[in-house]
Amino acid sequence: MTKLNLKGVTRQELVSHLSGIGKERYRADQIIRWLYLQRVRDIDNMSNLSLTCRKRLNEFSFIGQIELVREQESQDGTRKFLFKLDDGNTLETVLIFDKNRLTLCISTQVGCRMGCRFCLTGGSGFERQLSAAEIVDQVVQVAEIVDPESSSRGPISNIVLMGMGEPLDNFAEVLKALEILMYDDGLQFSSRRVTLSTCGLIPEIVELGKRIEVSLAVSLNAADDKLRSELMPINRRYGLDELLAACRHYPVTNQRRITFEYILFAGLNDSLDDAERLVALIGNLPAKINLIPFNEHPELPFKKPEHQRIVDFVDYLQRHKLTVMTRRSKGADISAACGQLRAAESGNCLS
Ligand code: SF4
Repeated sequence: MTKLNLKGVTRQELVSHLSGIGKERYRADQIIRWLYLQRVRDIDNMSNLSLTCRKRLNEFSFIGQIELVREQESQDGTRKFLFKLDDGNTLETVLIFDKNRLTLCISTQVGCRMGCRFCLTGGSGFERQLSAAEIVDQVVQVAEIVDPESSSRGPISNIVLMGMGEPLDNFAEVLKALEILMYDDGLQFSSRRVTLSTCGLIPEIVELGKRIEVSLAVSLNAADDKLRSELMPINRRYGLDELLAACRHYPVTNQRRITFEYILFAGLNDSLDDAERLVALIGNLPAKINLIPFNEHPELPFKKPEHQRIVDFVDYLQRHKLTVMTRRSKGADISAACGQLRAAESGNCLS
């Protein structure tokens, strides 16, 4: 029997595991508290379990861990963590402090196969899926680092699945990870504070809405199919009409809205005509627009729009009653900004 990594399993899987090794089902909640509240790394430290229970658990399970190999801090306070996985692959996780929020941007794949033209992760190709354990452990380990500092910035307040990879291309493991992140007696993130960002895999968006309550962000970046297909190959499979229809049907509760991310590229999608198309596309969908002026990088051909173009674009959207937030890309000096993440130990390190 292969040993089970306790960190990546759901409560239900843990209950089955405990039954399978002859232990009481109620131990599952105790174990979840040890793993995610106390953050123990050794089964023997779960002191309210009997010695025989710990022995049995040790025989058939373990607590896996990804290895933190490097941490960098940007001039703006953004922190980037590089983790090494058991097979030698690496992933990056970014911690962003902004307006009293401490947001952790986590990865869900090593690389990505979606091939968005403005993204260095996509340009580096796809290596493999992350397991739920590897996804959750990014949160556990960074929480352990920042909690002692919590008097200045507070604990991690928000999680965004927006790091390396397309979360919905790793559906089963991401779903498990989301469930684990939201346990009341575990990491305790409410669905409002967890946002999954997708490039637009429509069947998975529909399925996600049926399976779990989580905030949704869609990486849009163009309001017409021709340009979006050039920037994001996924648009050739799922066009804008279909994407917006899926968003309209996505269950949005508690006054939440879908976020549309729109990277502004100079001369490509930043004109008032583009803004007009965007307004028409969104229509009356409860949404907010997250505008991100492109963060220039020597390996990418795109340019950042001039300040006035950004102001005019924002103004147009606001005059047409859209809620707009303009987000500065953070952590650019350590390649932690949007679309700049990739496995730095692969020899392609940009920082
Ligand atoms: S933007 Fe997201 S979906 Fe597109 S290639 Fe990059 S990581 Fe993948």
